[in-house]
Amino acid sequence: MLTSEYPGIVPETKPYGINKLRETWVVKESVRRSMQSNTSTETGPERMLRKAIYRAGLRGYRKNVRKLPGTPDVVFGKQRLAVFVHGCYWHRCPKCTRDIHPKTNSEFWKAKFDRNTERDRANKRQLRKLGYTVVTLWECEVRKDPTKCAIKVIKAL
Ligand SMILES: [Zn+2]
Repeated sequence: MLTSEYPGIVPETKPYGINKLRETWVVKESVRRSMQSNTSTETGPERMLRKAIYRAGLRGYRKNVRKLPGTPDVVFGKQRLAVFVHGCYWHRCPKCTRDIHPKTNSEFWKAKFDRNTERDRANKRQLRKLGYTVVTLWECEVRKDPTKCAIKVIKAL
């Protein structure tokens, strides 16, 4: 089940399959969860954030706006605010992935992670050019305290 849904991880018959990765890598529970929740549409922390935003009384946002760079998870169009909830694993959360590096094929993974973070930066730049304020939240902080994250969003509006 953990194969083709992960961008960049090819089916497990190939050397970079996720099971191979698990064997060769001491993966923290939090990071494993983060890998599992990485899909391009709906993930746990995104839902948690939207619930918290809704509870805070905010309405009128759109989710997963594909026409904007990077497909922001939450967008307030009128106020030009784009919010990303970044999965800690793929987007290399400094807190969660500082000591987590693949033991094998490290060059391959480093290049892949570098591309991800560079893409994130480029998306942010483009959004700012379009006049958007960008709020980036890490999955771990949303899981820990969604309300606090919702307040960050409110403050940016
Ligand atoms: Zn994190």
